[in-house]
Amino acid sequence: MITSVIKTTDPTQAATQGAAILRAGELVAFPTETVYGLGADGLNGAAVDKIFLAKGRPNDNPLILHVARPQDAFALWDGEPPFARALMDTFWPGPLTLIYHKAPRIPNEVTAGLSTVAVRLPESAVARELILAAGCPIAAPSANLSGKPSPTTAEHVYADMAGKIPLIIDGGPCRYGVESTVLSLVGIPTILRPGAVTREMLAAVIGEVALAPSILQPLQKGETAASPGMKYKHYAPSAQVQVVVGEPAAAARRICELYDGLIAKGKTVRIAATAEAAPFYGSRAYALLGRRLEPISLCSGLFRLLRELDEGADVILAEGVAPQGAGLAFMNRLLRAAGFQVEYV
Ligand code: AMP
Ligand code: MG
Repeated sequence: MITSVIKTTDPTQAATQGAAILRAGELVAFPTETVYGLGADGLNGAAVDKIFLAKGRPNDNPLILHVARPQDAFALWDGEPPFARALMDTFWPGPLTLIYHKAPRIPNEVTAGLSTVAVRLPESAVARELILAAGCPIAAPSANLSGKPSPTTAEHVYADMAGKIPLIIDGGPCRYGVESTVLSLVGIPTILRPGAVTREMLAAVIGEVALAPSILQPLQKGETAASPGMKYKHYAPSAQVQVVVGEPAAAARRICELYDGLIAKGKTVRIAATAEAAPFYGSRAYALLGRRLEPISLCSGLFRLLRELDEGADVILAEGVAPQGAGLAFMNRLLRAAGFQVEYV
């Protein structure tokens, strides 16, 4: 299959072309403010199946339905989720996915057999135009091969999906560069996956919000993942990733020690640094993740670096930060990439 790439210089034309492909039951990769999505008509089970095939995604890992108008979300749930209106008024359009009991018309392929469904209204204008033009909710996970970091540019999507899908809509780099916050509204509101809409921001609107245990630790024996995606070893590069958490100077000092030791053993080592600690690395080879003061920038930096640094590095030494605000989303992705190998200094 030939994969075409179109730019969004004319968003309406891109949406019209994409919508025609979606309505024909085929796949389209499209930009959102979080990461690139791999979309199919969310009410067509056979089309949704093609997403699992193209990604090599385990078929027990459900997808998110994307809508363009709040009222369309209510048509996908069985009843009105508690807190939904306040959350939608505050955070939609935006990087917040809400989970609640599913309406009977949702195909099992979307929910991977679960009784709940995840819904989001993206902020990206191209994504919303595409959904409106298609006239259906779009089922879309991230547009990477399963096990690879989420794509934050159309080039990342092309590297993973060329030959497998007919169209990629190129909207440039994604604004946040990390997947949406996933919040379950079944029972006590619980974050299943942290993102740019932070626990603190949610708590300011609806009060106390719980965190799924598997966000910062591996799934324990006998524990079922609240979000099936959390049980897979996501973002795992072939290089070994080691995390050091601490203030900039202290973390950098420890990373320099580890770096020098590994180099002496003939290993190829790269440092994934924050801007605040970068001056402490001297002549050692480091790549910038982003700024600690703006932790969301660290997430997109991480996905980009995992794709780049993976080629040719034996070990990646990465700085970790406090799991507060958007720092929680960063640490969730980083610790998974590191197989939870972490040191606190
Ligand atoms: P992706 O869009 O690739 O980030 O994948 C969607 C994420 O949402 C995965 O981690 C899924 O496990 C999660 N997800 C989707 N639907 C549900 C659901 N009904 N219950 C729990 N997690 C879900
Ligand atoms: Mg994904």
